[in-house]
Amino acid sequence: MKVLVINSGSSSIKYQLFDMTDESVLCSGLVERIGEDMGSLTHKVAPDTDRADRIVLEQPIADHEVGMRLAIDLICGEKGVVKDKSEISAVGHRIVHGGESFHHPTLVDDSVMEELAKVIPLAPLHNPGHLAGMRVARALFPTVPQVVVIDTAYHQTLPPKAYMYALPYDLYEELRIRRYGFHGTSHCFVAKEAARVMGRPFEEFNCITVHLGNGCSMTATENGRAVDTSMGITPLEGLVMGTRSGDVDAALHSFLHRSRGMTPEEVDFMLNKESGLKGLCGMGDMRDIHAAIAKGDERARLALDVQTYRNRKYIASFMGVLGRVDAIIFTAGIGENDSVVRSKSVENLERFGVKIDEKINDQRVSTPLRISTDDSEVQVWVIPTNEELAIARETKALIEA
Ligand code: AMP
Repeated sequence: MKVLVINSGSSSIKYQLFDMTDESVLCSGLVERIGEDMGSLTHKVAPDTDRADRIVLEQPIADHEVGMRLAIDLICGEKGVVKDKSEISAVGHRIVHGGESFHHPTLVDDSVMEELAKVIPLAPLHNPGHLAGMRVARALFPTVPQVVVIDTAYHQTLPPKAYMYALPYDLYEELRIRRYGFHGTSHCFVAKEAARVMGRPFEEFNCITVHLGNGCSMTATENGRAVDTSMGITPLEGLVMGTRSGDVDAALHSFLHRSRGMTPEEVDFMLNKESGLKGLCGMGDMRDIHAAIAKGDERARLALDVQTYRNRKYIASFMGVLGRVDAIIFTAGIGENDSVVRSKSVENLERFGVKIDEKINDQRVSTPLRISTDDSEVQVWVIPTNEELAIARETKALIEA
């Protein structure tokens, strides 16, 4: 079975075609700068093998339909990895926000499209692009089942005490203002992988998943169900990220309005694009921050300290949420690669049963790695995330059900 995974953004489309017999990637690609004067498509054949090959097209790409057609022409046909579109058994779509309507991967029909359109006010930057990609994919593959795998779905098991903000209740009733949580596909994938490598049934598994990439979030999972998470109604709340502030005092908006005359839009932009690591030291990429620290840059050191301190506070609070923690799992760009961040994020947690082995922590591998000591009560793991594979697996599971 071959499953095409599509992540369609406002001006880009990412795709991967999986052969689900061995979960290999047959090809992957990225269409960028849709709607701009000049667009591009980078298409990679067998990207994870030594037969890897790549094609780059530079041309104007007027809209999602043009972009998707260009990609399909490279995927299917004489020179494609499949000879005909009919060889593709299913399409899985990544969706950032499903509001409260979606608890599981769902087969796409007109009513699903309508539901996702209703959630646009909660995710104005993401859902319109997803819907544009889905419309084109449905037109190009009219007889192929299409599945939405939604980033907020994993967190729909949060209890009200975790998802409600302490605000006037009618805001929830009228506007569905609540914590939704994001990166759910990644949290679910690495939590299940950890249970698998530890030989534990997922339904009895308690863990804290720490997704540290450009965006950062943390989720507490109890008996295989998410019970709390750091991101909120939008992906701004919680941890310190590349350019996002994470938690700040909610009075900041009005304070900045009074003291600097900033509009709500300007404050939003600042919190999402000019804050986090970048706000503190001018660099949003952790690799640059380490290089600057090595040269004695104090602001870079501060940015590292602020991020890892916040991680530690959240880990400790989620330990309080769970009581028994079987594993803490680090994943995504920073979580998978940065031993310093991992080490500083669990500093001072020895008395809570968390001990890491610094020598193992320093190793770089691309497979799951346990970095805790043998006598650590809580196991600590590095588990590479793979959201596209997770979407392909969920898509396959749903259409076979
Ligand atoms: P992601 O969003 O998961 O792709 O993660 C992207 C982020 O991971 C980058 O902005 C970097 O801050 C970080 N990153 C990637 N590679 C490394 C590395 N080798 N060491 C430290 N941080 C890294």
